[in-house]
Amino acid sequence: MKDVRFRSVVDVVGRLNPSYPVFMVFPDVLQATAKSFLDGFPGTVLYAVKCNPDVHVLRALYAAGVRHFDTASLPEIAKISEMFPDAHCYFNHPVKSRGALEAASDVYGVGHYVVDHIDELDKLHEVVGKDITVEVRIATPKGAAVYDLSSKFGAPSEEAAELLQEANRRGSRTAIAFHVGSQCPDPDAYRVAMREAAGIARRAGVPIDYLDVGGGFPAEYGEVVPPLEDFFSAIRQSRDELELEMPLFAEPGRALCADGCSVLTQVQLRKGRDLYINDGIYGCLAEIQLGPLKPPVRAIGRSEGRCHPVEGNPRTFRIFGPTCDSLDVFKVEFELPENIREGDWIEFRRMGAYSIGMQTAFNGFYTDTVVEIDGFHDGI
Ligand SMILES: *Cc1c(COP(=O)(O)O)cnc(C)c1O
Repeated sequence: MKDVRFRSVVDVVGRLNPSYPVFMVFPDVLQATAKSFLDGFPGTVLYAVKCNPDVHVLRALYAAGVRHFDTASLPEIAKISEMFPDAHCYFNHPVKSRGALEAASDVYGVGHYVVDHIDELDKLHEVVGKDITVEVRIATPKGAAVYDLSSKFGAPSEEAAELLQEANRRGSRTAIAFHVGSQCPDPDAYRVAMREAAGIARRAGVPIDYLDVGGGFPAEYGEVVPPLEDFFSAIRQSRDELELEMPLFAEPGRALCADGCSVLTQVQLRKGRDLYINDGIYGCLAEIQLGPLKPPVRAIGRSEGRCHPVEGNPRTFRIFGPTCDSLDVFKVEFELPENIREGDWIEFRRMGAYSIGMQTAFNGFYTDTVVEIDGFHDGI
């Protein structure tokens, strides 16, 4: 499928007539989104690679000007370093194996590492040495985000201040990082976390090279979320009110890529109001179940060689994925035309985040067809 470009989703259906799922990347959408984030955020923007590590997505973000990457594993660091020799990787996982640390430092020259515990700081200094920037990941209060990430990582404030002091005492540069949780619809969550970070910085009393406000910026699925500008202005305001002098970093994943990809699936059997399709909770659509998020959908049909939207009154359907596991059915139901039938396609939009990077090959179902579509989306 290399170098084949498509004009639209309908063009993909028309030319491929796919009975397999197709992951569709819109590089122009990704670039436009990334550019507006780079323009609007008052600081340096790192892309969180785990959100979507597909090469087409990475290339589009790089083309938009993204040069800094939040990488959480050695394979992510290797991929970014090899694709973009002038890019900067940050090893922003609070728990790293010794082998991965060694290779990150010796082979790829990574100089920024996250920790949230004294034993990890010891490990880091032992393997990599002291001439690095140690970012201390702090815990943030559970807020409105769909996914709370502080239940797994993040040092409480007193410990965080001690980690900063200890890293500084041993001769490393220091920074602070947090993550308010993914798909966070509330700009105030950043104000609260920045206040916490400012308190910790004051308590530690060491130079802080930068404050990394993490990811969490929301994408629009079913529900309306505040525009990104509201988040940026909350962050700018907090920086000014708290008189923070250090530069700001952010590590968006979802906000950069959700809108820029779709998953095209096909209906393989209809039983009344149940549809059996070829992607599901173990595939590129996994996050619909985990969220649960409800992306926009549309149905496309084909008759006499021509593709067209399926027209019909909307009704709700249950959607089953392709594996034999009875868990492979979405909790949320979707509105689709009442006359949808076997052979029609369903496009799940805004599936750029946590989709192709999360799929499994369970039961032999795996999406390996990725196509690029020029221009902007042609519907819904
Ligand atoms: C997942 C993750 C991100 C990206 O989060 P989004 O909610 O997709 O913006 C950023 N930083 C860290 C440390 C992460 O684990």
